[in-house]
Amino acid sequence: MFDLLIIGGGPAGVACAKVLGSASGKDYMANKKIGMIAYTQTSDLNAAVLNNVYGVSLGVKGKDFLKTELEELKTFKPIEQLPENPIISLVAKGDSYQVSTKENNYEAKNVVLAIGHSPKIADIEGLTDWVIPHKNSLEGVEKCALKNTNLLVKDGLYVAGLTSGCASQAVIAAGTGGDVAVQILTKWNNNKFDHHHDK
Ligand SMILES: Cc1cc2nc3c(=O)[nH]c(=O)nc-3n(C[C@H](O)[C@H](O)[C@H](O)COP(=O)(O)OP(=O)(O)OC[C@H]3O[C@@H](n4cnc5c(N)ncnc54)[C@H](O)[C@@H]3O)c2cc1C
Repeated sequence: MFDLLIIGGGPAGVACAKVLGSASGKDYMANKKIGMIAYTQTSDLNAAVLNNVYGVSLGVKGKDFLKTELEELKTFKPIEQLPENPIISLVAKGDSYQVSTKENNYEAKNVVLAIGHSPKIADIEGLTDWVIPHKNSLEGVEKCALKNTNLLVKDGLYVAGLTSGCASQAVIAAGTGGDVAVQILTKWNNNKFDHHHDK
């Protein structure tokens, strides 16, 4: 059983994983089991050239940036990297969630979905009830999000990045991933606010 499963290898999922992974020295993080399905094949960043992303050098290809970020993430040992396959279902099971790919099943107490804004997210079993039109999309472009309040869909189920309905800029997507991470740190700290900085 995972304490947390982060799904999606774009800016939102990776930003969330980095904040949580960096906080592993905190007492309440002891024995927390965090898994990540960093599937990247359908990230919007694959087609991008980056000239306006805070912290990223001009002209970096989105595809290369995704690779570098995932390589760096592998050094965050508390985050267990799971096979990079798309999920096909997410079903509530008592107080936890069962997440399935074609190859594997995982159980997690908390899940972060950072799986982009494609209408295909409506095909994932268990998500249909929460799918809404993506309100921060260009006119005439059909995109989806999952209904949420401050990035929480329901107890233990969070969204980040485009899946949350945010505008499509990499810094905004990454910011929501960091926000979810802080919400989870706070939850694990007995609901007393916490975040993590290194010096
Ligand atoms: C052509 C183009 C150019 C762009 N240029 C810029 C730019 O110059 N500057 C800028 O700031 N932004 C740019 N963007 C937008 C930027 O790419 C997005 O805002 C950003 O990628 C959003 O991050 P995200 O993590 O929310 O979503 P994504 O990057 O789309 O990541 C979603 C992740 O979920 C994974 N996933 C999807 N389905 C599943 C599933 N079923 N199971 C598991 N994983 C799944 C995907 O493979 C992907 O890794 C551009 C986008 C496009 C399309």
